[in-house]
Amino acid sequence: MIKLIRGFRDILPGDVELWQDIEAKARVLLENFGFREIRLPIMESTDLFSRGIGTDTDIVEKEMYSFPDSKGRGQTLRPEATASVVRAYIEHGFAGSDPVQKFYTIGPMFRHERPQKGRYRQFYQINAEMYGVASPLADVQIMYMLHLFFTGLSVPDVVTHVNSLGCPECRPKFRDALTAFVSDKTDRLCSDCQRRAKTNPLRVIDCKVPGCKEAVEGAPSIQDHLCQDCREHFEAVIKGLDNLSVPYEINPRLVRGLDYYTRTTFEVQTSLLGAQNAVAGGGRYDGLVKILEGKDTPAIGFAIGFDRLAALLGAEEKDFTVPPPLFVAALGAEAQKIAFDWLCAFNAKGLRAEMDYEGKSLKSQMKQANRFRVGHVLILGETELQNNKAVLRNMDTKEQVEVALDGLVDQVIALINQG
Ligand code: AMP
Repeated sequence: MIKLIRGFRDILPGDVELWQDIEAKARVLLENFGFREIRLPIMESTDLFSRGIGTDTDIVEKEMYSFPDSKGRGQTLRPEATASVVRAYIEHGFAGSDPVQKFYTIGPMFRHERPQKGRYRQFYQINAEMYGVASPLADVQIMYMLHLFFTGLSVPDVVTHVNSLGCPECRPKFRDALTAFVSDKTDRLCSDCQRRAKTNPLRVIDCKVPGCKEAVEGAPSIQDHLCQDCREHFEAVIKGLDNLSVPYEINPRLVRGLDYYTRTTFEVQTSLLGAQNAVAGGGRYDGLVKILEGKDTPAIGFAIGFDRLAALLGAEEKDFTVPPPLFVAALGAEAQKIAFDWLCAFNAKGLRAEMDYEGKSLKSQMKQANRFRVGHVLILGETELQNNKAVLRNMDTKEQVEVALDGLVDQVIALINQG
């Protein structure tokens, strides 16, 4: 039997209803905040990600699904959406019409990581990206929106961590201080961090491996190295969050895995998902549009991990299937013919109804209706046919009413809608 590829998964009916609900709420909120949907391809030139995300990041170094096309050009299944949104922003000349643009996109990402609970090789994200606003108001608005989203869904046990990563002015000094600090501790670091200590020392300070955590205790803090502008920006963000009563924790260790971040970075964390504790993350990336050959444009965005969010919300309830309101049970060939016409009419008029297609006994049709957990069953047997009336049974109250066959479809819809 051919099975799923490791790290990939199916999202089945029964679970998918929760996903649809989350997605619908995300769309409403994002659009209320002025974000417009952008749909992007899942494959892009490899260069877009290596240049955009940074060659010294885990993603680009070892996690991308890259392969050459027939002419040998590198292409990659997108590991994240931000670089693609920036490409589209530049390619379609948005900056020319109005540099201030807000986009959102929802879809699959691909990273060749070691699969485990909450970590997949194909996973889904809800991304929001905002261009052209350097003001800390953008940071506040975007974090406020994220806060509303999580509270609106009543996501349990989430805390927003916030930090500043400085800018090309102040970060190199912090990086130097950090490199000096870790240089005599490399033997205590995990193999990944031994490599990172040279290429990307910022990543060492947020490594989750206990030995690394211990080794970097007392490491220099970026908060002590921010330049005047970055400090003022950060303070304005914090003040804005306070004004809107958005809860947060300042976490000077929050670094995140992508090179393009500048200034504000944030991550929504939970303790309910084991090692994979980040449910959403984002930040400013003021340099990225320029790196990808667009005009120098400030930008900020976030990605919500859809799989992890669904796991948090679905932890208790096992089945999110919405039962159909109606089952049509018919006995005898003639009744079944009529019932099928009704079924089609109910479906066409927007009422979800089910029936048995194979002429089973009334008892087994009622069992099937129970399995569907329907609210009502419409029964049409030989006696009902003779009387020109069908019976509508409320499965909760067990009450039954007779409905004339003439004009039955609209009558039944009205009765069901009445409750
Ligand atoms: P990132 O693009 O790395 O900033 O990740 C943003 C969010 O996507 C994270 O907070 C996670 O919730 C989610 N995420 C990242 N990688 C994975 C993965 N391999 N499997 C499931 N979710 C992921």
